[in-house]
Amino acid sequence: MKALSILGSTGSIGTQTLEIVDDFPELFKVVALTAGKNLDLLVKQIQRHRPEVVALADPNSIAELQERLTSCGAALKPPVLLAGSDGICAAAAWASADLVVTGIVGCAGLLPTLAAIRAGKDLALANKETLIAAGPVVLPELEKSGSRLLPADSEHSAIFQCLQGTPWADSARLSTGIAPPGLRRIQLTASGGAFRDWDPADLSKATVADATSHPNWSMGRKITVDSASLMNKGLEVIEAHYLFGLDYNEIEIVIHPQSIIHSMVELADSSVLAQLGWPDMKLPLLYCLSWPQRLETPWRRLDLTEVAELTFRKPNPAMYPCMDLAYAAGRAGGTMPAVLNAANEQAVAMFLEERIQFLDIPKLIEHTCTKHQQELRADPSLADVLAVDSWARLITAEAAP
Ligand code: NDP
Repeated sequence: MKALSILGSTGSIGTQTLEIVDDFPELFKVVALTAGKNLDLLVKQIQRHRPEVVALADPNSIAELQERLTSCGAALKPPVLLAGSDGICAAAAWASADLVVTGIVGCAGLLPTLAAIRAGKDLALANKETLIAAGPVVLPELEKSGSRLLPADSEHSAIFQCLQGTPWADSARLSTGIAPPGLRRIQLTASGGAFRDWDPADLSKATVADATSHPNWSMGRKITVDSASLMNKGLEVIEAHYLFGLDYNEIEIVIHPQSIIHSMVELADSSVLAQLGWPDMKLPLLYCLSWPQRLETPWRRLDLTEVAELTFRKPNPAMYPCMDLAYAAGRAGGTMPAVLNAANEQAVAMFLEERIQFLDIPKLIEHTCTKHQQELRADPSLADVLAVDSWARLITAEAAP
């Protein structure tokens, strides 16, 4: 029985992980849950999964959570209730957890992820922003603790799956900065997001409703907007660089509108391996939970005759300026990816609040990254990362039209 700590249990990743726990009650149990604000769903999850500990981001909501648990009788065997960032870190490092699923959105996941690593936990990494903002901090911590980082992002899971059977992947020692022997190139597939069939000239009229209607995947709002701008793929390029150790020149983005091939690896002899499946996050999440085993599922089986065609094209940089911004930040390294990530989080939040237009997102990110160029730290500490994260949010907000 594997004991799970699920960070961000009320989100898209969190709820899908809990569905897997429901599908395999004899294999997985929940010992820790954490959430932001969604008390209604959290209470239901506590009633169903009876975790040992629950942590809420907002300390002011703890009394209400306690009251609700008491009134619905869920307090028969009450979980330990914790609050704030420290509480979430404690849940992430909870002693009885074997695997921590990181489903918090944004850089808010950084400190809990580090807490889990320092406690020696294995991780199913969905919260990509942590690695992007703090790769140079996270990698040495992984080396020190021996924690294994299993990629939950479907693209990185696909790459990891393609590399199974090699000594490198069998030990799951990703994030060492050393590429697996024989791996020459990674091709990350991208659906193209909500605007993939739009005329670039129409993007100035894009609304929040437009940007949050993903053609293939059902995900949280922030990552759905990131998919529309292709920033999600840009962030994944940086994530792939840290996980698999390849140079940025060897990590490519390919638009694949069907989202059936979840990514590809090219090996030294020019063979290309791919992992295929319906676009459903439960599959990569299950692989994180069951690795190195594969579990039998009753899930819908892939029928390529039903899909009929798989198509591929190069992304148009004029349509997706965030893509080039992400490559540039990744290549600059040090604190620049943290600045890119924070500027993007701030700009997307303002877009979702309808304070800026969709096309303002790349302009604001570029503005903030340019301002940071002279201040870049090549080998940042955690304090440096947290400082530039706060700075970049402020600069981005101030520059909003
Ligand atoms: P959601 O917005 O659906 O869920 C986010 C979760 O984080 C919720 O549980 C939310 O709590 C919690 N949360 C929000 N802010 C805070 C905070 N400040 N402190 C603590 N907890 C917080 O996001 P997704 O599930 O879509 O994405 C989660 C992560 O996984 C992201 O990093 C994303 O890039 C990555 N990912 C997601 C995929 C997907 O299919 N959804 C695919 C691949 C990667 P509450 O709702 O209670 O406020």
